[in-house]
Amino acid sequence: MTVLCYHAVESQWESPLAVAPPDFDAQCQWVSRHRTALTLDQALTRMGRNGRLPRGQAHLSFDDGFESLYDSMFPAVTRYGLPASVFLVAQTLTPQGQVVDWVDDPPECPPSTLSLDQVLEMQDAGIDFQSHTWAHRDLTTLGYDECVDDLRSSRQLLGDLLGKQVTSLAYPRGRHSGMVREAARKAGYTHAFALPEENEDVDEFAIPRVGIYRGNSTRVFQVKNAPSYLALRHGRLAGIARRVRGH
Ligand SMILES: [Zn+2]
Repeated sequence: MTVLCYHAVESQWESPLAVAPPDFDAQCQWVSRHRTALTLDQALTRMGRNGRLPRGQAHLSFDDGFESLYDSMFPAVTRYGLPASVFLVAQTLTPQGQVVDWVDDPPECPPSTLSLDQVLEMQDAGIDFQSHTWAHRDLTTLGYDECVDDLRSSRQLLGDLLGKQVTSLAYPRGRHSGMVREAARKAGYTHAFALPEENEDVDEFAIPRVGIYRGNSTRVFQVKNAPSYLALRHGRLAGIARRVRGH
């Protein structure tokens, strides 16, 4: 089964990245009825060498740390008792903050990101927070030392703020390379998540996820949760999978 990758959960922002709250609620309900939802630690422990989870198991992950996660995702996963992980852009939690400048189709007002108070409240309730780098730059465009610095400083800041070891990373836009994977290892991570559009080699620094996007119907959501979806998407039936990918 699959590690799912979401971004925002909100109605207003008409972006593929923003799943509407009623759709998200329906997806949570489906997962709670048809899957065993795992914590991030459980998912990493049970994952096979192909990056897939055992049959009937799933994990929900969220990139970017948008504030809509507090307003819409947190109540829904709490209602259905689903574990979740959120990958934060560390600089957004510094005193100077960071305006969201990394999305392709921003709304008129850039989306807000979670405050530290919101993060800590969600962490107390069981949400697992990890790193989505320092400033959401494309890591494949950085030099090796710069990449290690970015990943190390984000890991350290988030570790200090969260009071725990941060050991998982989600690559911005899922983009990585051999250099990036080595930098992630050097910076102290044990696992890193991608978001492959095409077939990629899988290891603990290139764990595939399946993106869930605005407007994905219940049927598309179910197909994306099917045991064979990743294999199908990357194999000879890729054309069929592309049609249901919804993005
Ligand atoms: Zn991102």
